[in-house]
Amino acid sequence: MKTDRGSFRMLERKQLLQELVHDSYKSKRKLAEPARCSDCGAVYRRGRWCWDAAPPEAHAIVCPACQRIRDRFPAGYVTLAGGFFAQHRDEVLGRVRHCEEAEKRTHPMQRIMAIAAEGEDTLVTTTDPHLARRIGDESVADLLVDLDQAELSRDAGELREIEAARRRLDDGSYGICADCGAAIGFDRLRAEPAAARCVECQARHEKTYRR
Ligand SMILES: [Zn+2]
Ligand SMILES: [Zn+2]
Repeated sequence: MKTDRGSFRMLERKQLLQELVHDSYKSKRKLAEPARCSDCGAVYRRGRWCWDAAPPEAHAIVCPACQRIRDRFPAGYVTLAGGFFAQHRDEVLGRVRHCEEAEKRTHPMQRIMAIAAEGEDTLVTTTDPHLARRIGDESVADLLVDLDQAELSRDAGELREIEAARRRLDDGSYGICADCGAAIGFDRLRAEPAAARCVECQARHEKTYRR
């Protein structure tokens, strides 16, 4: 089961970094409404994307999801790997596709770009990190059942750190040391995207709180 959790952690880190580095496809300026994507037919109106019929005055654009598909530039990654996946491949992939269907129905920008073999593993790429996260959560839910309690709580601790890092991304405090307020530095964040402290403060923190 080690491989399963290893790849799960890796994908979370990759996602977090991806969100941090850029999301150039979420255009900062407002889109002129109404608009219709000439690739997929999604309609943009009242500030959101939907699958409604396009009003006659809608102008043609390419939506951010289709732009990513054209550019082959995914926003989210999920790696499916390990023993559980190997044994339940069809079931897990069915769940992955179902997850996309459910999400895409109400959120047209949430799509799977590709499901591709990567050696022993399968890599799912998506047009939005949110969908990748949901696929990750739902497809690993069963994996976690097999773990013993000690390992589970270690994983939960790591997931909590990642959640906390996401909150810091949202409130703008990501990358700033929680203890001294200095910049954590890109090299450290690249190795440890969920890091809350700079190297010095982390060392001090561990010394203080280790039993
Ligand atoms: Zn489109
Ligand atoms: Zn510090």
